[in-house]
Amino acid sequence: MRRLTGTGVSHGVAVGPVVMLMQNPLVIRFAIPPDRIDDELTRLRDARERSKRQLHEIGARLNQRARAELRYLFEAQILMLDDPLFVNRAEELVRSEHANAEWAVWRACAGLAAVFDEVEDPYLRERKGEMADLSGRVRMNLRRARESALFDDVEEGAVLVADQLSPSIAAQIDWTKIHGFATDTGSRTDHTAILARSLHVPAVMGLLDVSGQVSPGTTLVVDGTMSEVLIAPSPAEAADYRGRRQRWVAMQTRRERQGVGPARTLDGVEIRIDANIERVADVEVARQQGAQGIGLFRSEFLLASADAPAIAASEALQVELYRQLFDRGRADSVTIRLFTASALEEVAGDHDVGDLRRVQLRAVLRAAGDGQLNILVPTVSGVGDLRDVRAMIAESRAALERRGDRAGQVAIGAMIEVPSAALTADVLAREADFFSIGTNDLVQYTLGASRTEPRGAALYEPLHPAVLRLIRQVLDAAAGSNVPVALCGEMATDPVAIPLLIGLGLRTVSMNPAAIPTTKQLIGQLRASELREVADRAMSLATAAEIEEYLADALGRDPRDELTLGSATEGATT
Ligand code: PEP
Ligand code: MG
Repeated sequence: MRRLTGTGVSHGVAVGPVVMLMQNPLVIRFAIPPDRIDDELTRLRDARERSKRQLHEIGARLNQRARAELRYLFEAQILMLDDPLFVNRAEELVRSEHANAEWAVWRACAGLAAVFDEVEDPYLRERKGEMADLSGRVRMNLRRARESALFDDVEEGAVLVADQLSPSIAAQIDWTKIHGFATDTGSRTDHTAILARSLHVPAVMGLLDVSGQVSPGTTLVVDGTMSEVLIAPSPAEAADYRGRRQRWVAMQTRRERQGVGPARTLDGVEIRIDANIERVADVEVARQQGAQGIGLFRSEFLLASADAPAIAASEALQVELYRQLFDRGRADSVTIRLFTASALEEVAGDHDVGDLRRVQLRAVLRAAGDGQLNILVPTVSGVGDLRDVRAMIAESRAALERRGDRAGQVAIGAMIEVPSAALTADVLAREADFFSIGTNDLVQYTLGASRTEPRGAALYEPLHPAVLRLIRQVLDAAAGSNVPVALCGEMATDPVAIPLLIGLGLRTVSMNPAAIPTTKQLIGQLRASELREVADRAMSLATAAEIEEYLADALGRDPRDELTLGSATEGATT
């Protein structure tokens, strides 16, 4: 078994025999059943004859225009068609390896090209390009002879290995038949990667040379979650991955059946809604309320229970708990906010706080193999905080690897909940994988108000222009650097604030589960195209009261009158 690491661009697991596609040139390889070998050979010969006819026609036309040197070129191609090293060799591959004709032609041509590579004579070396051209022509004629869709003949449950995979080809493939793909080139932001995610096709890209390391029919595991492929796994490993795939497929099916999906405005703009939770058991509630994932798991709540010291010190206990976040809630992604410093200090006892942090990081990395797991760094005040956590994560990953434990891929995000973070969002955006704006704290620290003390409550105004400007600054910095951004403060549950936030460009929110159904309903009544202007106007006003009044007016009425959201302050904790 060999393991290659690339970039997991779409979650999930696929296990199956390799089917290959070399898009440069585009060639697929599948096995021809013995009783169809003769048909395949006929197809090949027909394609050769058709190619020959076309080349003669081209030659005749060129002749009329007296382009002799070009005519010779095509005449040379006609001769090559009869070269025993080409079509005859291809026929041999169909017979001996049961290769499909397209593949056999490509292989024969590649063999000839290698011969040309060896020769010193530059004239002969140039013939290599002509070989590729000719091979393309024969393959084109093979396709025309049989107008079938790509991969029609491929067995169900195969995985695709390609040098490169263009979005148009990816869009053409029947992914119910082909269960995943691995490519030499590509990255997370490729359109092919985006397509894979939306179609839920497990995929790893950027593997550099996976196409050179596998053969058609080799068993391959594609683990998009762990960013790796396993070539020729042992039967036990393959069985383990098949089990994982089954669980993953079951999760997808349940999700589709439950209709859990993003909110959608009247004009079709999708707003992702995740849940904020404090207890592992709440993932089920989050799901029932229609959350797509867990946008904020306040892990410090684990340290508020009676067995907190045991949990804080036990990697195994934490791995178990974090895995349950996926298993019980069927979330498509889970964001775990790391223990806050104060929570850790309270339970540390004789333990070193740094050691306890490492315990959590190792546990999170181990659980990351189960799905898309994000680490959220609380109360980031500047980029230094993020760097410190990154360094600790690298250290923890190395420690796990030394131990032989598997560490999954994680995205590392910054919680923007103090003004210093918002004001340096452009700097943070260069180093954070995502942002989560925590308005519960951002409001209090911007305004010198208190979210808990009744005395400070009067000053606590989420719609204050200072807060809105900071939020806009964060959204703009994130957009400028292509950093995903969510807002996980309770402000997202406010029916007056949410249209404004959408108008400012926000597309992901995370909130207490109870607020999700009504927020979805409210978003379904909005028209995103109109909200940018509303937001611009609101941003020009002077006070929270003016902004609130304007918004209520612009939205036709105060939506709060009509909607009673599930406890708008629930979950607004520390
Ligand atoms: C926030 O500050 O907005 C937030 C979501 O975190 P918490 O409420 O846990 O402080
Ligand atoms: Mg906070």
